[in-house]
Amino acid sequence: MISRSPVLFRKLFPGVVWNLPGNRKEILLTFDDGPVPVATEWILDGLRDYRLKGLFFCLGERVKQHPELFHRIRKEGHWVGNHTYNHPDGWKTSVNRYMEDVKRGGASSREICSDLPMEG
Ligand SMILES: [Zn+2]
Repeated sequence: MISRSPVLFRKLFPGVVWNLPGNRKEILLTFDDGPVPVATEWILDGLRDYRLKGLFFCLGERVKQHPELFHRIRKEGHWVGNHTYNHPDGWKTSVNRYMEDVKRGGASSREICSDLPMEG
């Protein structure tokens, strides 16, 4: 198992799954900054055609703008992750403000899909 997650992040979010055990040769396909029309739809169509699942790190703002795409991601069995509300620049944003954006991102996604877990 190879872990590339910074230790700080793993300590800040102990309830988040950072690693999975096992030695199988697998890759995890991840897609950031959506959902957005055209690109997310194209990705979902391709994953469906190849019978693959992916992990979509979504921005809360875009989830609110395109709830139908967020629902499609989940309906088709993919995983979703919180990628903040509107993608603040981590180098230019205070930790408190950044963490508020992370919380707002998670809350926005839960507004659209109330069955999402509370972490992040
Ligand atoms: Zn991003």
